[in-house]
Amino acid sequence: MPIISNRPPLDEQAARARAAGANVIELRVDLIGNITAVERFLNGPRMTPCILTVRSAAEGGAWDGPDDERIALIERLGLLMPGYVDVELVTFQRSANLRQKLGLIAELNGGASAAHAIGARSKAENALAEPTTRRARNRLILSVHDVHATPSDIAGVMNRFPGSPALIHKGSFVARDGCDALRILIELERRARQQPTILIGMGEAGVATRILARKFGAFLSFAAFDNESESAPGQLAPATMRGLYRWDSIDGHTAVYGIVGWPVGHSKSPLVHNAGMAANGVNGVYLPWPVAPDYEAFARFMDTLADSPQLGLRGLSVTIPHKENAFRWLSERGANMSEPARRCGAVNTLSLSDGQWRGDNTDAQALAEMIALASWAGPGEKPRTILVLGSGGIARAAIATAQPLAERLVIANRTESRAAALAAEFACESVAWSARTDVSPDVVIQCTSLGMHPRSDESPLPPDALLPNSTVIETVYAPPRTRLLQDAAARGCRTVSGVDLFIAQAERQFELWQGQSPPQGLFAQLLNGQAPAPR
Ligand code: NAP
Repeated sequence: MPIISNRPPLDEQAARARAAGANVIELRVDLIGNITAVERFLNGPRMTPCILTVRSAAEGGAWDGPDDERIALIERLGLLMPGYVDVELVTFQRSANLRQKLGLIAELNGGASAAHAIGARSKAENALAEPTTRRARNRLILSVHDVHATPSDIAGVMNRFPGSPALIHKGSFVARDGCDALRILIELERRARQQPTILIGMGEAGVATRILARKFGAFLSFAAFDNESESAPGQLAPATMRGLYRWDSIDGHTAVYGIVGWPVGHSKSPLVHNAGMAANGVNGVYLPWPVAPDYEAFARFMDTLADSPQLGLRGLSVTIPHKENAFRWLSERGANMSEPARRCGAVNTLSLSDGQWRGDNTDAQALAEMIALASWAGPGEKPRTILVLGSGGIARAAIATAQPLAERLVIANRTESRAAALAAEFACESVAWSARTDVSPDVVIQCTSLGMHPRSDESPLPPDALLPNSTVIETVYAPPRTRLLQDAAARGCRTVSGVDLFIAQAERQFELWQGQSPPQGLFAQLLNGQAPAPR
């Protein structure tokens, strides 16, 4: 966990980091600035090993003074440790004189000293076991950084490091999307067995690399104190790593799940799936995988996963804009698909078992359940008219699901040609957007983004177009009670919220992957704020 300023005092910050579960604390001296405060801290009693880092501006740090001074400072402070010293590979390789200086404070060759023999055991908490005797030698972390991208040849970059077991090799690259994150993890999995290694993807797309570092035996992963004090983009607060992503329970056998979409940062799926696995004692972790919108990026991501069984992937939720891409990718491989997925032409759930992919559409399953629950008529009676508002991805699932369930299905969409095309494909009717108020439906399935936060005062249908006793199924889930749902309740309609729908589709996903249900009501409690959300 990095300390990046001297406010509050360093020992207070170190105590906070330790209380939050940090095993090692990184002193970012280039960002702290106040060298006297660092010296005072290093001279005082310390409970947790430190990583000493004076990062140069050339590698994304804040040190813009002369390099000689920087090395002299590292040398001076390094003598006050034991712990770790992080030096850029380019700096290390610059001169023999410099390496000699680093040799005074850190083990460079051969085996690690007894006090620091943790190279073979490549888990971060091993660093905790280090005695904090004075003037013991440090271990050297040699690092390379790319603050713009992930190198196309990660192995080539990492192969430039000298291969001494005393050294820890660190690569920190900006991951632009989930494909970069996968490449980083593949390289980590390969290298960490031979050499103490840290490989991190910076940025939002690198979150999975920070969490799966533990599964693949990285020497350590980095966390920020909180969401405001990250020293590299994408660092997570320890409460998020340990709470939401269950860092402490991850091991080499942990199964990997996640959500693929663009963007995915807002998704509630990690919250419910991780909590469900924790409650059921499943050794798994569910992570965000942002993948750029085009089919080529999606196919590259999926092909990489298909070729990398060592990553331990078991399942993916698929969200906007990849549901149809997932259908195409599976179709091109002749993979198994459920009937709802085939009918919708879209897949929101991917499962991988014994090398076999399968596609499902739990949006459609959840919608079918919601329509069945809407008891507008006697048992077995079909609703006379279902009105679907919208013609996007979720509307397509609604139409494919509702078409066999209604005597009459009507589609209305702002762009009328899209409604007409879907009506032709699914053998139903479309009406002009302006005529949506004249349909008198028993069931409305609201599939536009109207009413979504922040434009939550909007509604796709005026209240007087709703029949009392009809059913309104909303797909928008933020806010949970949209303007349409409020109007519908006031008109005496039965209502199904987008949150109910989200919960139902997530529960079906969980059952597909785990072969068991999550604890009853857990997902609803988490989403309604009635259960404490792991952070
Ligand atoms: P999408 O493919 O982008 O479709 C958006 C739809 O909204 C289109 O039909 C679009 O009409 C219409 N629309 C957008 N702005 C409009 C406006 N100002 N006036 C009238 N119509 C407008 O999105 P999607 O994937 O179908 O998702 C739609 C909504 O469902 C989102 O709010 C999403 O969060 C929600 N959703 C919920 C769940 C769940 O589990 N609860 C699952 C998936 C989606 P045009 O064709 O004219 O552009």
